[in-house]
Amino acid sequence: MYCCVCTNLTVYMFCTCCQQLTRNIPAFLAPWRFSQCAFRSSKSELKPNLSSDGVVCAPLHTFTEEETMLKNMVTKFAQERVAPFVQKMDENSKMEDSIIRGLFEQGLMSIELGEEYGGTGASFFSTILAVEELAKVDPAVSLLCELQNTLTNKLFTTYGTEEQKRTYLPRVAKDTIGSFCLSEAGSGSDAFSLKTRAEKKGDYYVINGSKMWISLAEDAGVFFVMANADPSSGYRGITCFIVDRDTEGLHVGKKEDKLGIRASSTCPVTFDNVKVPETNILGQVGQGYKYAIGMLNTGRIGIAAQMLGLAQGCFDHTVPYTKERVQFGKSVFDFQGMQHQIAQVATQLEAARLLTYNAARLAETGRPVVKEASMAKYYAAEVATLTTSKCIEWMGGVGFTKNYPIEKYYRDCKIGTIYEGTSNIQLSTIAKILAQEY
Ligand SMILES: Cc1cc2nc3c(=O)[nH]c(=O)nc-3n(C[C@H](O)[C@H](O)[C@H](O)COP(=O)(O)OP(=O)(O)OC[C@H]3O[C@@H](n4cnc5c(N)ncnc54)[C@H](O)[C@@H]3O)c2cc1C
Repeated sequence: MYCCVCTNLTVYMFCTCCQQLTRNIPAFLAPWRFSQCAFRSSKSELKPNLSSDGVVCAPLHTFTEEETMLKNMVTKFAQERVAPFVQKMDENSKMEDSIIRGLFEQGLMSIELGEEYGGTGASFFSTILAVEELAKVDPAVSLLCELQNTLTNKLFTTYGTEEQKRTYLPRVAKDTIGSFCLSEAGSGSDAFSLKTRAEKKGDYYVINGSKMWISLAEDAGVFFVMANADPSSGYRGITCFIVDRDTEGLHVGKKEDKLGIRASSTCPVTFDNVKVPETNILGQVGQGYKYAIGMLNTGRIGIAAQMLGLAQGCFDHTVPYTKERVQFGKSVFDFQGMQHQIAQVATQLEAARLLTYNAARLAETGRPVVKEASMAKYYAAEVATLTTSKCIEWMGGVGFTKNYPIEKYYRDCKIGTIYEGTSNIQLSTIAKILAQEY
């Protein structure tokens, strides 16, 4: 027979190890009675026929050959083409043109796009690996790749008309950066209280309003603009418009002087009587809020990957230093006080990786991922904050200087708790789903 607990083959109801386990349960646990909904969330994961929807049971670190090749290619690209410019780009708050060109040339701006549009035709998981690898070297460059793949390209492929796809997808695969304009000065977390308006006039709309914090706006060639076309319907009036950069009345303002990810531009964008043809509505009128929610769900897995790569990159720089640095006659790594801290951070990094990879695999198979995406983003941002802070401590004084990249990782990580929904908003999302589960 099989053990009732671990299902190992045994002659008893419980196998030797589980009998041991049962005996060791502390007395205070005995009165526990599980309610009917206990383990509900894990139960849903125990569907036996996983392979029927294309999922193969394997450790989360298992990659396809294609994913492994892409990951290796990105690692090489990051080391050879990005690393030499990281410090200069941070100092100048400016992305190197050769890096933007390189990302397009290598197909990293169109990872999931079909080859018919000039894309790479790879998986969503490949995007996550690419974002992670780039972030190990420069989280700002990683953001460029992340936003293009998880927001711009996904918006076009998911909601675009055939005509919009034919017009824009070859461009975003070749040389055009997209920007996502949702936030405003008065609406951040409460995004759908936005004030930008779109007024219908015949077969076109006129957009007026101001957006804030728009990533990549300095170099973007096309903007997704969330504007309310029917304020009397509240957030159900929010509509997504595709607006080309050279459209009259669109102004990109002075970029913010930021704490971190300085090479990635963040600018206000204003719309002053911007005329947009009806044919440039993405999807349907009044559905913009749904599209934003949908895109941000997968986007959050991308940000989790960015934070994960950032933390891993920082850790990889730091641990070898602790092994080389000698104090009291031995390497500082050899002190147990250091080893325990390093082991703890390594464990949390692994947990963040598993959350992120699992969310990505779920998204790839079209399963619900809202809770998992929020958990991955929330946790990876926490881990990045902890890792970079600890790495500075482990490096001592030099970690606090600009002679090493550690202080940059420390500055870059903070954004993970803010954009694509703050950490509080992630926790509220997780709690909302838990409330439905129990
Ligand atoms: C570098 C950078 C890049 C960005 N890129 C883009 C972009 O490309 N496109 C875009 O549209 N936006 C972008 N943003 C905007 C970003 O999404 C918002 O900054 C973010 O959603 C938070 O909004 P806020 O800054 O107005 O903060 P607020 O919403 O004012 O929040 C302030 C604090 O209040 C807390 N809070 C608010 N509401 C709640 C609540 N209900 N429960 C608990 N706590 C709450 C928040 O967690 C936070 O701690 C970017 C921002 C930055 C800094």
